Amino acid sequence: MFDKVLIANRGEIALRVLRACREIGIATVAVHSTADADAMHVRLADESVCIGPPPAAESYLNIPRLVAACEITGADAIHPGYGFLAENARFAEILEGHGITFIGPSPEHIRIMGDKIEAKATARRLGIPVVPGSDGPIANTAQAASIASAMGYPVLVKATAGGGGRGMKVVHAPEDLDAAIKTARAEAAAAFGNDSVYLERFLSAPRHIEVQVFGDGRGSAIHLGERDCSLQRRHQKVWEEAPSPALNASERAGIGAIIAAAMQKLKYRGAGTVEFLYEDGKFFFIEMNTRLQVEHPVTEMITGLDLVIEQIRVASGNTLTLKQSEVTFTGHAIECRINAENPETFMPSPGKIEYWHPPGGLGVRVDSGAYQGYRIPPFYDSLIGKLIVHGKNRNEALMRLKRCLSEFVIDGIDTTIPLFARLVKEPDIANGLYNIHWLESFLKKPAQSHSSMP
Ligand code: ADP
Repeated sequence: MFDKVLIANRGEIALRVLRACREIGIATVAVHSTADADAMHVRLADESVCIGPPPAAESYLNIPRLVAACEITGADAIHPGYGFLAENARFAEILEGHGITFIGPSPEHIRIMGDKIEAKATARRLGIPVVPGSDGPIANTAQAASIASAMGYPVLVKATAGGGGRGMKVVHAPEDLDAAIKTARAEAAAAFGNDSVYLERFLSAPRHIEVQVFGDGRGSAIHLGERDCSLQRRHQKVWEEAPSPALNASERAGIGAIIAAAMQKLKYRGAGTVEFLYEDGKFFFIEMNTRLQVEHPVTEMITGLDLVIEQIRVASGNTLTLKQSEVTFTGHAIECRINAENPETFMPSPGKIEYWHPPGGLGVRVDSGAYQGYRIPPFYDSLIGKLIVHGKNRNEALMRLKRCLSEFVIDGIDTTIPLFARLVKEPDIANGLYNIHWLESFLKKPAQSHSSMP
């Protein structure tokens, strides 16, 4: 096991990793930009190193500074969290070169899965069902037009290097294809420095269902069931739950077995998530994330496993704690992403938290680095915390969530809590009847048609 882990991240995930390290007796090093000197992960870490000014490119994304921070503090491993450098194969490779363990998969697997076209080809080869589309990048509009007409409209133009829903355009008619390709390319070039795009059939009403996997890098791999992340705004997840209200036990075991077998063949190491769109009883692979996900707590709540501790164990050369037959699923868990944003316009709302009162009680977990008096800096993602509830069934989890939302008080900034208070009262949500478009159409309805606030 490692003696000291450096956490190359900030916010709630830095704290999440810190807590896991502390429980198993590993010393922690926090890194932070000058904007985060007061952050909770910095206050709680055993040591901390300021790695630069607020812009992420000069701090959290600056590889030489992170390596130097390891050397100064004697950290023997880095946990990257999610975002920032978590899926940067070059970073993982550089750390290896410096004798620092990257707590994550091999650079080769990060690279394959980071290129969506290569990821799809790999998935297909491993026996995973994929979304129909162009088998490679689009060379020009004429080629795209012939693939699209063979596949049938609507189609989706997606960035090969995509992430966070950027560089993605739906096309309903042939005459719009050229403009959509140009816009997607421009967005992808700006966001990822790579303007390569490809085509996929646009599924009209799927659910987003993803399977959590874990491998030891030596051919053992298990799945930990699925999460339903269909409630999205602008292709970004807002609410996640496990298990999915749409799957039965045999569908779960079926897709889980396919994925676990694929990860065994790949000799995958660490935590990963295989994402699917699910429509009419069929699964279609869209991508694999080679890291811990924001929504990992819902899986932890129903399996009783600590995924960060598992990541650390596997990265330090241990085998998996569990065999597939020992994984059990208990009850139902729901996570709401609490963003510092206006709940109607979704404009970011950085600033000082004047009052902070999180909910508590049985089956309630709040993962957040925020506290009363904390000033949310304007430079980073607006996620300030996650409210996770667990119940013995979905209905109990929903009742608990409703109770928690009425208890949660955050003053001084806007948050998305009022949005969840509305969602939890919607009959479609109560019945689990939603797909990836449900939330966008709900948000377009005039506010008075929504149920009133408590
Ligand atoms: P990113 O890496 O940018 O997050 P993903 O490929 O994971 O992109 O897709 C993000 C979301 O976009 C999905 O959860 C889904 O809502 C939507 N999406 C992606 N591919 C398709 C598709 N072929 N048809 C319909 N919706 C899609």
